[in-house]
Amino acid sequence: MTTSKNDSRSSFRRRPESSKIKHREPRAHTANTSRSAVQPLNSNAAAQPAIILKAGREKSLLRRHPWIFSGAVERVDGAPASGDTLPVRSAQGEFLAWAAYNAGSQITARVWSWHEEEIIDAEFFRSRIASALALRRDLKLADESSGMRLIHAESDGLPGLVVDRYGDVLVMQIGSAGAERWRDTCADILQQLCNPVCIYERSDSDSRTLEGLELRNGTLRGTLPDNVEVVEHGLRFKVDVAHGQKTGFYLDQRDNRALTETLARDKDVLNCFCYTGGFSLYALRGGAKSVLSIDASEEALQLAQRNVELNGLDASRTEWQCADVFAALRKLRDQNKKFDLIILDPPKFAPTAAFAEKAARGYKDINLLGFKLLRPGGLLFTYSCSGGISEDLFQKIIAGAALDAGVDAQIVHKLHAAADHPVLLSFPEGAYLKGLVLRVAG
Ligand code: SAH
Repeated sequence: MTTSKNDSRSSFRRRPESSKIKHREPRAHTANTSRSAVQPLNSNAAAQPAIILKAGREKSLLRRHPWIFSGAVERVDGAPASGDTLPVRSAQGEFLAWAAYNAGSQITARVWSWHEEEIIDAEFFRSRIASALALRRDLKLADESSGMRLIHAESDGLPGLVVDRYGDVLVMQIGSAGAERWRDTCADILQQLCNPVCIYERSDSDSRTLEGLELRNGTLRGTLPDNVEVVEHGLRFKVDVAHGQKTGFYLDQRDNRALTETLARDKDVLNCFCYTGGFSLYALRGGAKSVLSIDASEEALQLAQRNVELNGLDASRTEWQCADVFAALRKLRDQNKKFDLIILDPPKFAPTAAFAEKAARGYKDINLLGFKLLRPGGLLFTYSCSGGISEDLFQKIIAGAALDAGVDAQIVHKLHAAADHPVLLSFPEGAYLKGLVLRVAG
């Protein structure tokens, strides 16, 4: 589809033919209401809305990285509102991308499309969503789990939009002004393509504040059933969609939990940051001798114990502790407790690289203690879900922890998020979850 030069410069272009789906046209916010200090001063308000980059700052866009940081922006022409789709141009005026603008974020814009002729409308979202669903179908993920990530934001070409499926309930999480603008359109498309009983919105993570977006938690379509469950590799988990963490469950660890099951037989297992019992249940089903699970959330631990019952697993082999893992590990060390298999799956210590140093200390601390609590020949499953910590850096931190703990260890597995969390090659930030399975010398 081609448009005239003039057309392609306007912020909202319409397809000549109405799209198949009935959708509410996203309401354009009143211009100038959401301006902030990020807005460059030398904008040309009378010009067509566009983002103009500083000279030489188009390089990351040419490599198709989908974020435009405020520091790369020379000026924003026109008087666009947050959420508007704007063309991004180099200092020489060359078209680079269509991107969703956010005046109030360090990430001034997130790219929807690299093609000048593309129209960002309901049909665009329908096509991106359909393609994300097709990938999950091709991967045959439904054979192993009724829970899966259907849309993984930037990595599925939809910056700021996450959609997780728990059986016939969808949970949507919106983290950018652009995705926010198209929220209803996307909900309509998902309703049509997936026919869920409910689409629930969990847009209540702190990162929304960084984007200048209000926090929201509630039903978008249909009615949320009282009981939401996923069945993952034959194990049933209750999911608290409205109050649980993230969208209610950590789908990304599915394959890694299954790996733990295969290595747990007759072992004394310690599961730190256990949430609703994911790794604990797999270890139990895999024949673990004992499983001690620790988490700071009382609600998560209660759900974890219900999940053990729900699956008819032997609760007498489990012990649950509501505690701060940093303190609990020290206590276990002082009590001279030992384990054969330890899982460390902490929350995000470093959302961005700016937090990397502090996060590194946290990772080193728990891993050093983990190494000390392992019997000779024991296994450490250790994870980082921090976008600000690279795989290399994580491995270095773990090496430092082993050295200080006085143990020799080998990497036996390198782990990542499951396949429903794909990583766009041009967006390495998408590879946020990294894990190592280490065997300490016997
Ligand atoms: N492994 C889990 C997911 C872990 S998410 C699974 O497979 O489902 C991280 C967990 O860490 C959350 O449940 C959170 O409550 C817990 N947490 C965060 N900080 C903690 C701390 N300092 N001590 C103990 N638990 C903590």
